[in-house]
Order: sequence, then structure tokens, then C-alpha cells
Amino acid sequence: MSERKRILTGIRPTGPLHLGHYAGALENWVRLQNEYECYFLIADYQVSDYADDISRVRNAVWEVALDWLAVGLDPESSSFVIESLVPEHAELTTWLSWFLPLGMLERNPTLRAEMAAIENPEDGQTKGKSVPVAFYNYPVMQVANILMPRAHLVPVGEDQLPHIELTRETARRFNREFKPIFPEPEGLVGRVPRLVGTDGNAKMSKSRGNTIDLKDSAATVAKKVKAMYAGPPRGLDEPGKVEENPIFLYLDAFDRDTSTVAGLKEQYSKTGVGNKILKDRLTVALNELLDPFREQRAQYEGNMSLVREALEAGTNRARVIAKETMEMVRDALDLNYLSKFRVAALTPSPSPDFAGEGSRRGGK
Ligand code: ATP
Ligand code: MG
Repeated sequence: MSERKRILTGIRPTGPLHLGHYAGALENWVRLQNEYECYFLIADYQVSDYADDISRVRNAVWEVALDWLAVGLDPESSSFVIESLVPEHAELTTWLSWFLPLGMLERNPTLRAEMAAIENPEDGQTKGKSVPVAFYNYPVMQVANILMPRAHLVPVGEDQLPHIELTRETARRFNREFKPIFPEPEGLVGRVPRLVGTDGNAKMSKSRGNTIDLKDSAATVAKKVKAMYAGPPRGLDEPGKVEENPIFLYLDAFDRDTSTVAGLKEQYSKTGVGNKILKDRLTVALNELLDPFREQRAQYEGNMSLVREALEAGTNRARVIAKETMEMVRDALDLNYLSKFRVAALTPSPSPDFAGEGSRRGGK
């Protein structure tokens, strides 16, 4: 068996992946995939789209897998796992939901923000909805996801840290009260903990429509960058504050020529630099990053059976570990009701049936 420590992390299949996913998480996954035994989860149990449109989830499963292959995740050395095809995730979620206090979930800032967004949509046009029960289940399920392969490391964007803390608390409690099965996993946040959206909003997110997707064409990237929010209005050669212009956050994140970027910042705050210059530069940097991904993606799009094989093989590998973990959990919780030993212990005196069975089994 492999000696490597394990990574479990995942993404919800809500559509094609964007630069926020890449800089916050995927980049680390690619970097660590050979050092760790990796389980990358497509968390389809955890998509609120189910309430509206299941076909979106079905398509997004493929989009996510294609994006993973595009950025260079290797499905031979890592496992691409479809969450709901490993039903042990649901089983462990059910058991763990008894050990997690509701108050702990209600205090979770990520969950609170997500539920508030459902009840009171920011756009002011859509009517608020009531929060599905699944919203309380899904953080427990994330805990179950991480514990299932008994993972040591969870590379994620900053917004996921509260869920990892929850996982650590759950692991500690389970290990103390039952049996020491689970490592206490560490979170690892990417180079850009939370990438802002193209509209200047605090988080690039599909639901806000402020993304640049990994599969966007060069022309689409150019168009999106041209329309990006670039701080408060300024005259053409007017100096500005670097920290008020998110284009610089993007240049910091994606332009490899850091000394030129540093020079531009200085010039920007002293004598001013036109936004067009900054945006053109960003467009070039982004297309340099994305070009190899586009090429790789196109290859797999032309051979979707490889994508299917990657998902099938990875899910099967995860299932083996999941069964093993559930055996350990059942043993720790002492749930093996039907074991022969247990039945025999409950029986006041050997009943004729048991005696008969025993002697039959024991007989030659
Ligand atoms: P979206 O809102 O676009 O659907 P999401 O946050 O719902 O994105 P998840 O599937 O929940 O996406 O998250 C996948 C991973 O990507 C997580 O580790 C998350 O922290 C990270 N991530 C998502 N968006 C960003 C972002 N803008 N900056 C940094 N990391 C991000
Ligand atoms: Mg998502």
C-alpha cells in the first residue's frame, strides 16, 4: 500500500471552473499531486441547483472533469471521484450528524453567508427562497468527505477554512469518544486565498456572473478584461491608488513579470497609468496562462471516453477506501449488531437452533 499521506478536496459541479478556483485551490492540487495520494471530489450531493435544474449538475460534472484534466491533474496518479457514486459518503454523513451540534453549524460564517444569499438575493430582482434542509447537511457532508479517505491535507480557498475547522473538531471528538481512526486534517490555502470578481466584488463566483473561466477563449478573456472594474473613475493621466484598482490584484496573481508590475504600480500612484495599458497587459498574462489549458482541454473534448474512464477509475478507487473506513467506523461505534458473537452472547442458554448451527458448522 502507498506510504504517501492523503489529500481530499473537491469542487461542486456548478459549471465550468474559473480563475478563482485555479488560484485558490487547483494550482495547489497540481503542485501536490505527486507528493500525496490525492482524492479530488466532484461534490454533486452538495449542489443547490438540484432544487432548480438537475441537468445543469449533470453537465457540470463533465465540465469540472475536463477543467481538471486541462490544468494538468493526472487521473492515473490521482483519483477523480463522483461523490454520489460513493454512497458511503451519505452513510457517514448520517452518523456524524449526530455528533455535530446545530449551533456549531449556525455559527459557521460561510454557511451563514450562503443561506442569507438564498433568503435575500443580492440582485434585488429574484425573490428570496426558503433554505433547504440540505444546507445543514452539506457542511456535515464535507466533514464526512474529508474523513472518508482519512485525509491529512485539504487544499482549498479561504472560504472553506471554517469547514476544515469543523472537520478537525469532529475528528478529535470521534477519536476520543470511540476509536482513534481519523487524522486531524490541515487546511492549505492557495496563493490567492480569495480572488475578487471582475466586477470588483470580494469573491469571483459563478452565481455573481463575475468570472473569467478557464475554458474562455482568448477573445472572451479580452472582452471580459476590457469590461473589468478598475477602481473609481480617473482622468487619463491622473494618479490613482493602487489598492483601489483590482486590476493590480490580478496582475499580482497572474503576471509573472513582477518587477514590471512593481514599476507600473509606482508610476500609477505618481503620474498615473491608463487602465487600457493595465488591461492589455493583464489580457496577455491571462492568455499565456490559459493557452496550454485550452489546448489540453480540446484534446480531451475530442476523446470523452478518456474523461469517462478517469471518473470511473477514480470513483472505484475511492469506493475501496470508503468501504474500509466504514468498516472501521462501524467497529468503533460498535454497530455490528448481527455478528454471531453478539447474538450468542444475548442468548440465555444455547438454543437448539444455534447449537444445531454451531455443531453443523463445527462438524467436518
Ligand atoms: P462558485 O461560487 O463560482 O460556484 P464555489 O465557491 O461555489 O464557486 P466550490 O465548489 O464551493 O466553488 O469551491 C471549490 C474550491 O474553489 C474551494 O476550495 C473554494 O475555496 C475555491 N474557490 C472558489 N472560488 C474562489 C475564489 N474566488 N477565490 C479563491 N478560491 C476560490
Ligand atoms: Mg461552485
